Amino acid sequence: MTFPSSLSQIIVLVINATGAALVITVITGKLRNLLKVIFAFMTVLMFIWVDLAYAARLVGEADRGLVYIRIAWSVTPMLFVLLYAFIATFLRIVHKHKFYILFSLPVGILFLLIIPFTDLVIADIAYINGTLEIKYGSLVWFFFAQVAFYTIISFILLISQYRNKETSPEIKSRIRYLLAGLTFFFVMNAIFNIGLPVFLQVFHLYEFGDYSLIVFLTIIAYAITTNQFARIQVVTATFLASVLGSFLLLDAVMFSTNYEQTLTKSLILLLYIPFGYLLVNNVKKEIEQREQLEELTNKLKHMDNVKNEFISVAAHELRAPLTAIKGYLSMVIDGDAGSISKQAKEFLQDSLLSNERMIRLVNNMLDVGRIEEGRIIYQEDYVKISELAKIAYAEFKLEAERKNLTLELVIQEGVVDEVFVDRDRLHEVIINFLSNALKYTDEGKVTIKLSNPNKKTVKLEVIDTGPGISQHEQKKLFNKFYRIRSDVGKTIGSGLGLYISKLLIQKFGGNIGVESKPGRGSDFWFELPIKINKSDTGNL
Ligand code: ADP
Repeated sequence: MTFPSSLSQIIVLVINATGAALVITVITGKLRNLLKVIFAFMTVLMFIWVDLAYAARLVGEADRGLVYIRIAWSVTPMLFVLLYAFIATFLRIVHKHKFYILFSLPVGILFLLIIPFTDLVIADIAYINGTLEIKYGSLVWFFFAQVAFYTIISFILLISQYRNKETSPEIKSRIRYLLAGLTFFFVMNAIFNIGLPVFLQVFHLYEFGDYSLIVFLTIIAYAITTNQFARIQVVTATFLASVLGSFLLLDAVMFSTNYEQTLTKSLILLLYIPFGYLLVNNVKKEIEQREQLEELTNKLKHMDNVKNEFISVAAHELRAPLTAIKGYLSMVIDGDAGSISKQAKEFLQDSLLSNERMIRLVNNMLDVGRIEEGRIIYQEDYVKISELAKIAYAEFKLEAERKNLTLELVIQEGVVDEVFVDRDRLHEVIINFLSNALKYTDEGKVTIKLSNPNKKTVKLEVIDTGPGISQHEQKKLFNKFYRIRSDVGKTIGSGLGLYISKLLIQKFGGNIGVESKPGRGSDFWFELPIKINKSDTGNL
């Protein structure tokens, strides 16, 4: 039984394309030059081995077949010397092995000369029932011994480095791949290239030994490039480009019937080469850009974390003195430190309001990181928004009076306003709206409005007669740290209030937004789904 020749043809083609793809991947990867060079040489030797052994099986003519198979065999010892050099280079111990490697090269060269030109290793071949059978020469054991010797050395080097305590886990995992690949290659060759033909005269499965080489080379390439190899698109693109290139080459060389055809097909191949190169290069560039972007994103995330940490530490340090100031100011205003004049009281009330604003700002700074990272535990419960609106109204009445602004609370008659939220957090949102409205409005009024736009939703609005906000600014308003440029420096603010409000409202399943026109005031609103406490109404 022989291997179907068309299948062999496809396998050989795929092996060649894979080899080309591997060389391109390794050569363009971020690796040491020596490693690249050795790998490229190994792949070239693989091409010679696999292709000529295939050609020998294909020609079916003893004279040419003998030449082919001898050339195929002649490169094998060199391939194993290179394997040894490759592993020493990969493990960064090449300096220790320099002498042995240099000594091994002539051995490889010796075989390169002996095998093709003498009958010492391969005495002759014959095609018996279409299968190529080899008659070994007297030195064939020297050949096998050499191959086994370098395989064993490679194993020893890999295993000893693997057991070395100083070897990093990453290198260890690469060594594991190399060991697995080497074992596979060794076993396949021991069975199909040595065991079966030499001892049992089974020659027709011989090619499996050859083909295992590409698997081994793929594993090597994977082991040394891992992260780059992970860019599967590059490898796929390279592979496809190589397959196409190999087809064109084969077509030009083997299937041309006359000189003209060879020329045209070669021209097509020549035209194809830069195109294939561009294709692969573009894919590669794109992947590199993506990787760079990922790296930058990670850096930014890290910087964002550092900044958040700094803000939270600074805010934390500020909160204690601000709280102390608030306590003392309240005591003095309430007359606990003796009576004070009306004007002094008013001044102190202003100071207290400013202090409150600072406390809110510091709280926002502390909250933002915790909310973003989900480190906050929400105590959700059924809450009537009208209650929160009334509390906020009372809290800001004085501030509105001090600014000569009218503060209004408009609650739609029969409004259904029960929602399921964290009470304190929703209170914070209303306060953020209200303090902004009062802060940015110089004259007119501020209205808190509660209504039901539909049966399922309750809406709270804080409407002011302030400067208004342009359409363009409105889009960015709810972003972290965003402040309208003209307000920066003029008013105290962090650009966090609206951002936090958005996070919270979204967390509670609602929507938040603003309607505004420059010069016509602003209407900041949020909507939440109505959730009625069934057990409560049941009791009534
Ligand atoms: P802060 O007020 O601390 O700067 P916010 O996130 O609460 O942060 O607000 C972001 C920005 O939105 C403010 O800096 C201000 O420029 C603008 N803004 C908020 N509310 C109003 C409003 N009612 N009228 C006009 N501009 C406002």
